[in-house]
Amino acid sequence: MSEERSLNFIEEIVEEDIREGKHGGRVLTRFPPEPNGYLHIGHAKSICLNFGLALKYGGQTNLRFDDTNPVKEDVEYVDSIKEDVKWLGFTWAKELYASDYFEQLYAFAVELIRQNLAYVDDSTPEEIAVQKGTPTVPGTGNEYRNRSVDENLQLFAEMKAGKYPDGAKVLRAKIDLASPNMHLRDPLMYRIKHAHHHRTGDQWCIYPMYDFAHGESDAIEEITHSVCTLEFIPHRPLYEWFIEKLGIFPSKQYEFARLNLNYTVMSKRKLLQLVDEQYVDGWDDPRMPTISGLRRRGYTPASIRDFCERIGIAKRENMIDVGLLEFCIREDLNKTSWRRMAVLDPIKLVVTDYPEGKTEIFTGENNPEAEGGEGGRDIPFSRELWIEREDFMEVPPKKFFRLAVGNTVRLKSAYIVKCEGFKKDDAGNVTEVYCTHIAESRSGNDTSGLSVKGTIHWVSVPDAKTVEVRLYDRLFQVEDPSNEDGDFKDYINPESLHILPHAYIEPDLANAVPGKGYQFIRKGYFTLDKNSTPEKLVFNRTVTLKDGWVKK
Ligand code: ATP
Ligand code: MG
Repeated sequence: MSEERSLNFIEEIVEEDIREGKHGGRVLTRFPPEPNGYLHIGHAKSICLNFGLALKYGGQTNLRFDDTNPVKEDVEYVDSIKEDVKWLGFTWAKELYASDYFEQLYAFAVELIRQNLAYVDDSTPEEIAVQKGTPTVPGTGNEYRNRSVDENLQLFAEMKAGKYPDGAKVLRAKIDLASPNMHLRDPLMYRIKHAHHHRTGDQWCIYPMYDFAHGESDAIEEITHSVCTLEFIPHRPLYEWFIEKLGIFPSKQYEFARLNLNYTVMSKRKLLQLVDEQYVDGWDDPRMPTISGLRRRGYTPASIRDFCERIGIAKRENMIDVGLLEFCIREDLNKTSWRRMAVLDPIKLVVTDYPEGKTEIFTGENNPEAEGGEGGRDIPFSRELWIEREDFMEVPPKKFFRLAVGNTVRLKSAYIVKCEGFKKDDAGNVTEVYCTHIAESRSGNDTSGLSVKGTIHWVSVPDAKTVEVRLYDRLFQVEDPSNEDGDFKDYINPESLHILPHAYIEPDLANAVPGKGYQFIRKGYFTLDKNSTPEKLVFNRTVTLKDGWVKK
């Protein structure tokens, strides 16, 4: 969007900091994904915000993999995240990994033990939970809390050296067991996990917890504005406590409302279930809210950035209608896509007064929305054409301006034809429609003086190529599947994918380029799917031309 908009509250903070000369006016943000899944449209909001701030204020953004949990993380995810951020159009200053800081984080932990601000606790998770109390009941300490600094130093070194099994001990910050903020009741800093890490291998068997690793990674990189989602508000005092006690770079945390989108789920844990249990064809299934799914569906980076700009940055959560996302891609594709003709549900139209074996070449503009039309393409016309089944009616209702016996319509970019009759098979299905054409009504040189109310698209039978077309609907039947009774998967829309194995395209569409959007005239916006082969192209419908979706 090019219109001026007022600053969002994070931009206001950044501008204030720059005015005050904080950090010398420097702006360094970071996007910190955990490589435990593919990025989704919610991450796109965070990416656009973080990279957008840096772009706007002459700063930079680090891409930091928050890879402190060895079990769920994978290089496949790292690669996909990099691809998606690049595809969205952003360039990071540095590619960094929290795991690169393990040595430094360990030293920070030792420093806190030395200050008697951290201790090794042998309690079980259950015991710790009970001892923590509840928001209204203060927690109680245990004997481990009073361990000496020396004993803690030794035990922590032994934890690191692999002397203890998983779960035998944890390192906790010693803060305040009576704090009204549960996150300050001696939070965990390290846990023992004898697990292979995708980068550090078997070097470590203790891993830092998010709250300890995150702020300290920000400080190590000297991040000026660390933005995250609202659920981290109660973590902020802890973020600040660690930084203050360690006397390290004072990164500051700011929180904004996460994106919630209706008719889908966004948590990586749930998306992973859809993939693993094969409800969808992988993380990049065109029905998924992932960046890779949207890309495969035909969304453009510009449309996603536009969407993120339109939803804005707020301090309160709300639910965004997926219709807005669809609006953004329609806006973009209307301006950029090339127009082509394809017949999805074909019946044959025979132009009975047109010579057999004759072919005429008509031309059509690629993009009437663009200056100069971006060139054109040849469209062969012949006696036999494919048209949409729904464009003919045996018994038409009033105001049906398409084909019915006696009606005239224009065949897009070609002639006006008059419907004279039709043929049915034994089952009563219409198989062929018969028309005559008005020779003087050639598109671009129409001297017929006729005006018709309907224009339909078509594909010449001998020139048509057969393709598969995949039509998508919302993946879930309800607005907020995570908030319904039972399992979210119970609400999957059984009709979210509709495959048309025998659609016909005009010949030029055989040159379709991956990643480009095409408007199939009257049918919507489409893009080539990665399952295409030279023998059989597959097209995904990105979105219909108009918002025709009705609640079921
Ligand atoms: P999920 O809950 O989907 O698994 P996550 O928060 O665990 O997501 P991370 O990889 O930790 O995923 O997220 C990286 C960044 O993206 C974080 O700063 C996080 O706050 C942000 N983010 C994640 N989901 C959303 C969302 N729906 N809207 C906005 N930002 C998000
Ligand atoms: Mg997370």
